[in-house]
Amino acid sequence: PVDRSPEIQEARLKLPVLAEEQVIMEAVRENPCVVICGETGSGKTTQVPQFLYEAGYASGSEIIGITEPRRVAAVSMSHRVAKEMNLSTRVVSYQIRYEGNVTSDTKIKFMTDGVLLKEIQKDFLLQRYSVIIIDEAHERSVYTDILIGLLSRIVPLRNKKGMPMKLLVMSATLRVEDFTDNTKLFRTPPPVIKVDARQFPVTIHFNKRTPMEDYTGEVFHKICKIHRMLPPGGILVFLTGQAEVHNLCRKLRKAFPYRKGNTTTETSETMRKFKKAKQKKTVSLPRIDLDNYSALPVDEGDEDREAGIGDEEDEGSDLDIGDDPASIEEKADPSIPLYVLPLYSLLAPEQQAKVFRPSPHGTRACVVATNVAETSLTIPGIKYVVDCGRVKKRFYDRVTGVSSFRVTWTSQASANQRAGRAGRTEPGHCYRSGLLNCDVSSHVCSQSEILRPSKKINALVAAEQLLVSLGALKEPPRTGRVKEMEQARLSCPITPLGRAMASFPVAPRYAKMLALGRQQDCLPYVIAVVAAMTVREIFEDLDRPACSEDESSKLIQRRARLTQMRRLWAGQGASLLLGDLMVMLGAVGACEFAGCTPKFCEENGLRYKAMVEIRRLRGQLTNAVNAVCPEVGVFVNPKMTPPTEHQVVCLRQIVLAGLGDHLARRVQAEDILDPKWKNGYKTPLLDDPVYIHPTSALFKTLPDFIVYQEIMETTKMYMRGVSAIEAEWIP
Ligand code: ADP
Ligand code: MG
Repeated sequence: PVDRSPEIQEARLKLPVLAEEQVIMEAVRENPCVVICGETGSGKTTQVPQFLYEAGYASGSEIIGITEPRRVAAVSMSHRVAKEMNLSTRVVSYQIRYEGNVTSDTKIKFMTDGVLLKEIQKDFLLQRYSVIIIDEAHERSVYTDILIGLLSRIVPLRNKKGMPMKLLVMSATLRVEDFTDNTKLFRTPPPVIKVDARQFPVTIHFNKRTPMEDYTGEVFHKICKIHRMLPPGGILVFLTGQAEVHNLCRKLRKAFPYRKGNTTTETSETMRKFKKAKQKKTVSLPRIDLDNYSALPVDEGDEDREAGIGDEEDEGSDLDIGDDPASIEEKADPSIPLYVLPLYSLLAPEQQAKVFRPSPHGTRACVVATNVAETSLTIPGIKYVVDCGRVKKRFYDRVTGVSSFRVTWTSQASANQRAGRAGRTEPGHCYRSGLLNCDVSSHVCSQSEILRPSKKINALVAAEQLLVSLGALKEPPRTGRVKEMEQARLSCPITPLGRAMASFPVAPRYAKMLALGRQQDCLPYVIAVVAAMTVREIFEDLDRPACSEDESSKLIQRRARLTQMRRLWAGQGASLLLGDLMVMLGAVGACEFAGCTPKFCEENGLRYKAMVEIRRLRGQLTNAVNAVCPEVGVFVNPKMTPPTEHQVVCLRQIVLAGLGDHLARRVQAEDILDPKWKNGYKTPLLDDPVYIHPTSALFKTLPDFIVYQEIMETTKMYMRGVSAIEAEWIP
């Protein structure tokens, strides 16, 4: 029996999913797979694992596993569930790539998709688990797709062997038919349980004059107005990235400073101002219209939107806010403090936890978030949502291997999700920029994102091809018949190299480097480089715009310092040819030597969080290597000396073995027909040239043959993580 506190019990009873406990548990008992759909905040993530626990799914030696696409969610949800159940984190635990608190007492385990995938590689039948919940299936990370594909095969296998296992798929969107009706996945479609969310109406206000570029300025305006004019209630703001979140937080804190202890009187001040505004003219809230917005209830079709505009204009002037926004917003107003909190996935967990706590008495909470707050985390007490209408996405082209970050319009579905965050506890408002200007392509794109089995199978095929090309799997027999090919795939003959690779918790390309790293005592270097490549983005983004002159001069200094350090870490002569990987190696070594302090990172343009993560991963990889071949006896040496010339040559070959499919050849002068090919490189898959980035250690060297870690498309197609290789090494 679970011993919950009365407050927790009361809070649980308000969650819509609780009303469905019996229906859900009965469906789980009677079916191998069950799908649960319910609005964000309906209690799926926190409650369903508890239902299963109380129904005895973790009473034997087997445990309950739940996967999250985001690390933040895995960590914070495990803590929350432990707290709700009054159990220790030894029992309700989490595991993300390089850290976790799982013990032999663990009964409920939250993990990232990648962690579970790794476990499947070790034990295809997942015998530790009595049930697996795939949470946030609507997020559709590549891993989620692969996992559902694999689990839909594992579950019947387990049943056949008389050790039944259950699969639950949970999603915040209702469009699951494409997937449940897919007979390749499920011979009989699994039952879908829809949880009715107790959602209060949210009035959506569209901005007619959305400036194309300055949406953050627009958002700032909006928040200022809400805070000055509208009754109490938390504000949740959606922006596209961490840098934007920080900038806006800074501006808001400046505009409405909050200091401990200065709040009691201002509440009344806020209320006084609000009442004063109200006395002038009675305002009924749902009709309040700020600026050039028009109001429409949630879920009205796109085409109605145009018609709605103009109907209810000018209501905003009731509030007498004046025409010149600058005059009211630039002045700091400490009389109405705003409790501003950032929220994004790389934020430290202690900082993240703040959004769940009530804001200090007499302040209004304002959470400035990236889209982690869209579905993964439900923030309490939100009455107003300000949505910039955009999202930053990492685009990865599986065919060409090019990644890029792009800010695009949000899909209608996510716009509704975001708006819905405002109506959890009482009727709310959402102020949205941009959807009017929305181009069709983003809608098309969001349509095609709906769960489709072909994508899943494609991802599996691509993953398998990579493993075959790396030598981890033997080529499956090509019978040309889809069904047999799929069966062959499930019993893929794994090679000895593949078996060695499977013990390393990193991507297959890097696992291969580790498996080959013993030669010439290169392992400590390979481990450090692989850790750095896995964590990625180890250098601070010093190209970001500065917010003040002071910051600008600091940025210039740090840029100069980082350039200098890069040159130093890259070394000279032979070691220079290892290129950016040598720079990473130098950075990791130097940072560890200095004790991996925030100060060292700050001074040398390294991201502290990344360096801490690399440190942990280095430790973990070192342990993994020792477990596979104890005779090597590697250890993390805080005073690692740079590799010798011989070792550098060996390292370059190891890197080639792992990144062999990421080969590029410099375009020779005589082949340049088009000027854009000058200094360009040709890769097998792309028609267009790719380039070495100016910050790369090899920018001036321009070797004839190189391998790269990845291609990022920014202003040009740039290769990242470049090393030079010799023509005669190419197989
Ligand atoms: P869903 O998975 O359906 O989106 P959740 O189970 O995540 O819903 O959330 C249910 C409720 O639990 C929400 O009201 C949310 O605010 C609350 N909650 C989640 N985490 C915490 C936390 N750390 N502290 C307080 N409340 C929380
Ligand atoms: Mg959830």
